Amino acid sequence: MTTKIKIILAGGGHAHLLLLKNWPAAERPNVEITLISEFPTAVYSGMVPGYIAGTYTLDEIQVDLAKLAAACRVNFLRADITGLDLTAREVITNSAGSIKRVPFDVLSLDVGSRAGVSRVREKSGGADPGREFSIKPLQTFLENWRRVSADPAIREIDVIGGGAAGLELALAMASALRLVRAPSKIRVCLHERASRILPQMPRRASRIALKRAQDLGVEVQLNSSGQIGADKKMGEAVDSGARARFVAAGPTAPEWFRETGLDLSAGGFICIDEFLRAKGHANIFAVGDCAEFLRQTSGGQPQPIPRSGVYAVRQSPVLLNNLRAACEACAEPHSTKVSASLQKYHPQKRALYLLSLGDLDGNHKTMFTWGLFAFAAKWLWYVKRWIDRRYMRGLQNSYRQAK
Ligand SMILES: Cc1cc2nc3c(=O)[nH]c(=O)nc-3n(C[C@H](O)[C@H](O)[C@H](O)COP(=O)(O)OP(=O)(O)OC[C@H]3O[C@@H](n4cnc5c(N)ncnc54)[C@H](O)[C@@H]3O)c2cc1C
Repeated sequence: MTTKIKIILAGGGHAHLLLLKNWPAAERPNVEITLISEFPTAVYSGMVPGYIAGTYTLDEIQVDLAKLAAACRVNFLRADITGLDLTAREVITNSAGSIKRVPFDVLSLDVGSRAGVSRVREKSGGADPGREFSIKPLQTFLENWRRVSADPAIREIDVIGGGAAGLELALAMASALRLVRAPSKIRVCLHERASRILPQMPRRASRIALKRAQDLGVEVQLNSSGQIGADKKMGEAVDSGARARFVAAGPTAPEWFRETGLDLSAGGFICIDEFLRAKGHANIFAVGDCAEFLRQTSGGQPQPIPRSGVYAVRQSPVLLNNLRAACEACAEPHSTKVSASLQKYHPQKRALYLLSLGDLDGNHKTMFTWGLFAFAAKWLWYVKRWIDRRYMRGLQNSYRQAK
C-alpha cells in the first residue's frame, strides 16, 4: 500500500473553501487533505454588514466547515494553529489546551488577517479591554456585537478605522440601532486617522460615504486615531461603561507567524512568489490576507496587492493547480515536468468593490467602485445581494446537496 501525500489546508479562508469545492475527491486518490480551522464555521465578511443591518440570518452568511469537509471527503480538525515546525514538517495546533502536531507533505496557509486591537490599545494608553473588540475573528466579533447591541447601558459605539470594513460596519450598526433605539439614546461614531473616510478609494467614494453617514446619523471624526484621552472629542460625554469600541484599523498579520521561520514582510505577512509559494519553500503555499504578494507598479516600486476577498477568491484556481503540481513533485521527486506544470498568479490590475451603505428606512444602498469611478444606488444593493447569496449558496450546496 502506498502512503498518501498529506496536504494541510490551514484556515478556512476563501481560497481553501473554493478549492475544496472544485477539487473532486475522485481526482485525488493518493492525497489525504486535512482542513484546520479555529472555528467550526467560516463567516463570509461581504455579508456581515447585511447580517448586522438585519437582512441576513446567521445561517445565510456562514459555511459549516465540518459538513463541507465531510462532503468533500477531507479531514476536519477544529483547532487554533499556533506555529509551524518546518524541519519536522508539522503544523502545531492547540485545541482547548491540548497541543497536537499534525504532519504534512504540502501545506497551504489561508488564515486571513487580524484587525490590530493591541496596536490601538497600546496607542490609547490602555483602553478598557472588556469594552474594546476587534472586528476579527468575525465569529468573535459577531458575538460581541450581539452582546453590545442588546445592552441598554451602551450609549456610544466607536468604530476605529474608516476604511471599507469600518465604514460598512458603522453604517450597518447605525441602521440596526435606529430600529430599536431613539437616536438621542445612542451615538455611533466612526474615527478615521486620515483626512477623509475611505482614504484608499477615490475621493468621490469618500463624499458618497460621508453623505450616507450623515443621513444615518453616524458621526464621522477625521484625523482621529481613536485614542481615548488624547482625543478630547471621543467619549467625553459618556463614562467608559457606556461605551464600546470596535477596531477595524486595517489588517495585521497573525503574531504566531513571527516564530515560524518563514520569510516575512515588514508588516509580518508571509512573502510569496509568483506561484503563491512561501519564499524558499517548494511545498508551502500562502494565499489571501495572510500573504504578501508584490507586483510591479507604474511608479517602478513593487507594491503589495490589496488585502481583500476579491483577490483571495481569484487565487484559488492557481492554488489548486499548484497544489496538484506539488503533490506530483512529492510522488515523483526527480521528474522535470513538475515545475513546468506550476501556474503563475497574475493579480487583476484593479478590483470592483460593492460596499454596503446600510439601510435607511428600507432603503438599502450600495456603492460601486472601480478604479477612480464610484457611484451609489439602491438597485446596486440587489445586485450585491444576488452575487453574495449565489457565492454562499455555491459553497453551502456542496454539503447540503451531497449524497
Ligand atoms: C466587515 C468586512 C467586510 C468586508 N467586505 C469585503 C468585500 O465586500 N469585498 C472584499 O473583497 N473584501 C471584503 N472584506 C475583506 C475580506 O474579508 C478579507 O480580505 C478576506 O476575507 C480575506 O480572505 P482570506 O481567505 O485571506 O481569509 P479569511 O476570510 O479571513 O479566512 C481565514 C480563516 O482562517 C481561520 N483562522 C485564522 N487564524 C487561524 C488559526 N490560527 N488557526 C486556525 N484557523 C485560523 C479564520 O477563522 C478564518 O475562517 C471585508 C472585511 C470585513 C471585516
